[in-house]
Amino acid sequence: MPLQSPHYPLRLSRRTVLRALVGAGAGVLLTACGGDDLDPFAAGRQPTAPPSRTQDQAQQTQPQQAQPEEAAAQAAGQADLAIELPEPLVYVIPSPATQGQTVLVLIEAPGARQASLSWQGQAFSLLKSEDRFLGFFGIDANAPVGPQSLGVAVWGPRGEQLLWQETVIEIESVEWTIDNIQIDGPNAALLEPAIRQADETARLPFQSTLTPQLHWLGVFDPPSDGQITALYGEQRSFNGGPIEEYHTGIDFGGETGSSVTAANSGIVSWAGRTRRRGNGIIVDHGAGVFTGYYHLSEVLQTAGAVVEQGDLIARMGATGLATGPHLHWEVVVRGTTVNPLPWLRLLEFPDPFQELNPTNALTSTNLAQGS
Ligand SMILES: [Zn+2]
Repeated sequence: MPLQSPHYPLRLSRRTVLRALVGAGAGVLLTACGGDDLDPFAAGRQPTAPPSRTQDQAQQTQPQQAQPEEAAAQAAGQADLAIELPEPLVYVIPSPATQGQTVLVLIEAPGARQASLSWQGQAFSLLKSEDRFLGFFGIDANAPVGPQSLGVAVWGPRGEQLLWQETVIEIESVEWTIDNIQIDGPNAALLEPAIRQADETARLPFQSTLTPQLHWLGVFDPPSDGQITALYGEQRSFNGGPIEEYHTGIDFGGETGSSVTAANSGIVSWAGRTRRRGNGIIVDHGAGVFTGYYHLSEVLQTAGAVVEQGDLIARMGATGLATGPHLHWEVVVRGTTVNPLPWLRLLEFPDPFQELNPTNALTSTNLAQGS
């Protein structure tokens, strides 16, 4: 049964909700927006005509993108083509955004079938929930600042284009701190770029995909009772060298063996070990949102396990490149590491079910088309 706009923070029985969503294989909350065959961004296609407001107009401008079965449906239902769908309303939250932030895009598009985004060369299908499409993308801590182009496309029930617009989202800089870290002994070998790259390559497939469900409800919880000892975005220099990377998560201090819990509900997508991050576990929360837990002494779940918010999933340790026992915790959105702190704060949480005020929408008339 579709979940109707929950109010957050939710402290319902997550076990009940998650079992309904995941365990029984039914009650899918959101659906993927069809295949990428209709995605204007997936194949690098660019529209050649301005967005159309009605299905019949759209058919004239994009006939080559109709599918065979859709063409048959069109022939059988010419009367339907006269139906005019309301103009989709696009919301970008927040805008402007800052480096390291998670951006939520919501599109209210009654009657539409599919929607997608184009952001910095990547295409993102959006998830559909009744008349609403939603999707997240992450802004890297060192992403270019200033006006950046964001493409939005919405498709009707027969694959016709209802909206294609490029807008500009302003990315504001953050004054990240600079951290000079000394790594001695055997761990110094782990600073090799090839080892860092191997670590990222091994984990990327498990934190960059789009699971077309939303497994979580409400704000995330800290995964440890420990004190935060390092923040996201710190620009890091090792052993007096140049700044080559930034801190991709936040660190919690504590004792080896202390509890590490799931920040929110989801499915374990990876449990393993890399030389750089040591023992780790990644939880897929759906909709392209993942959390990662590293330097663990012990991993208590395996890939495919369904976990709920607060479940014990691992124990703190100092494996991999660590100067002492701590938990390195990341939030990853479609493969980009973002600042986890907003996910822990009610006022900053990118709630996909929030109420929308139409006066805040970016309509086609006030989108900065092509600029
Ligand atoms: Zn860390």
